[in-house]
Amino acid sequence: MPLFCKQCESRRLPVMLSAGEKTMWLCEKCKNFVDMEDFIIREQTEEERQESKRKLEEFEEYEASKD
Ligand SMILES: [Zn+2]
Repeated sequence: MPLFCKQCESRRLPVMLSAGEKTMWLCEKCKNFVDMEDFIIREQTEEERQESKRKLEEFEEYEASKD
């Protein structure tokens, strides 16, 4: 399992890009994806970066509004 990045040794996160696509693993630090065989597929796009940032912010807002 490509849990840790070979380049920076940070922990990777599993990311499901869209339905039907296989899970890819993202290194938040290097901003690149690998597949299950730890083969680098490509870098994270600016659009995907914004999207994950937006999702994180939404999640944090949701968490903050729970009480
Ligand atoms: Zn990395």
